[in-house]
Amino acid sequence: MTPKPRLLTGDRPTGRLHLGHYVGSLANRVRLQRQYESFFIIADLHTLTTKPEPEYIKEIPTYIRETVLDYLSVGIDPEVSTIFVQSAIPETYQLNLLLEMLVTVPRLERIPSLKDMARDANIDSMPFGLLGYPVLQAVDILLPRAQVVPVGRDNQSHVELARELARRFNNLYGEVFPEPDTIIGDVPLLVGTDGQAKMSKSLGNAIYLSDEAEIVRQKVMNMYTDPKRLHATDPGTVEGNPVFIYHDAFNPSKAEVDDLKERYRVGKVGDVEVKKKLAAAINNFLEPFREKRAYYLAHPTIPSDVLANGIRRMQVEAKTTMELVREKTGLAYSLDLFADQVDIFGEYD
Ligand code: ATP
Ligand code: MG
Repeated sequence: MTPKPRLLTGDRPTGRLHLGHYVGSLANRVRLQRQYESFFIIADLHTLTTKPEPEYIKEIPTYIRETVLDYLSVGIDPEVSTIFVQSAIPETYQLNLLLEMLVTVPRLERIPSLKDMARDANIDSMPFGLLGYPVLQAVDILLPRAQVVPVGRDNQSHVELARELARRFNNLYGEVFPEPDTIIGDVPLLVGTDGQAKMSKSLGNAIYLSDEAEIVRQKVMNMYTDPKRLHATDPGTVEGNPVFIYHDAFNPSKAEVDDLKERYRVGKVGDVEVKKKLAAAINNFLEPFREKRAYYLAHPTIPSDVLANGIRRMQVEAKTTMELVREKTGLAYSLDLFADQVDIFGEYD
C-alpha cells in the first residue's frame, strides 16, 4: 500500500476557535482527514512573535486545552489524525535556523500579514522573530513533509513562502521536501460580526464554536448590517452584508435565505426577523459541536491522551526528517566527529 500524502495545518493557542476558523480551515480538515495522513499543530511558539512576555506564556496551556476541545468537538478524529504542540518538537527550532539561511529580508518584508500583525499588537518596530513568522510556519509544514495545507486566505502568502523554501532547499541539497499546496476554505475570509474584514479572536468580533446559544443570539442581534437602512420598509443591500454572508455560510435552508434576501431588497422584512432566523441557523449548526465538547469536558483524560499520543507521533516524524536534513546538507559531520572520536585537526600535523 502506498503511503497517503500528508496534510498539515493548525492554529495559535491564543483563544477559542470561531466560525471564521471553521469555514476557513476546520471544515476542510474534517473533510480531508481520511484522504490524507493529517497533522494538526497547536502553534504555541508562534504566539511568542507578538507576545513573548511571561504573563502571556502562562495563558498558553489553557488555550492549548481549549483548542484540542475545539478540534475534537468539530469532528477531528484522533484515531486517524495527529494533534500536537509545536514547542514539544525540538526539531522545530533546528530546522527553523536552517531555513532562515535560505530567505532574504526583503522577501519577508513583502508579506502583507506581518505588518498587520505588528500593527494589531501595537508593535512599531518589526521584531526579528515576527519577520520570521512565516519561516517558522514553513518549518511546521515541512517537518512532517506535508503536501497540502488547508488555511484561510490570510495564510496563503505564508504557504507560498513554504513552497519557495522547499524548492530552494531541494535545489541546494537534494530532494527532501514536497512543495506544499494551499487548500482554501469555502469562505476564504469570514467577516466579523462588526462588519470588519476578518472575524478575529483579537478584534472582539467573533462568534466562538463553543459559545452558548444565548450568547450567539445576543451577538447576532447586535450584528452590523446595511448602515444605510433605517426602517424595515427601506430597500436594503444584501451583497457584502455580514448578516447575509452568514446566512449563506450557515443556514442550510436556501429557500429561507432566498426569501429573506428578496424581501430585504424591497424593504419587506425587518432586520430583527433576518437576525432571529440567522441566530437559529447558527445555533442549529453549533449544537452538535456543543454536545461533543460537553462529552470531552466530562472525560478530560481523552483530550490529554490525544495530545500526548500526537506529540509522541510527531516527535518520531520530526526525528526522521531532521536525520535526512542533516545527511543531505552535510551537517551530519558533527555527529560523525563525536561518534568516531576523530581529531578534526589531525590532518594538519
Ligand atoms: P485571529 O485572527 O482570530 O486571532 P488567528 O489569525 O490567530 O485568529 P490563526 O491561528 O492565525 O488564527 O489562524 C488559524 C487558521 O484559521 C488559519 O488557517 C487562518 O487562515 C484561519 N482563519 C482565521 N480567521 C479566519 C477568518 N475570519 N476567516 C477565514 N479563515 C480564518
Ligand atoms: Mg492569523
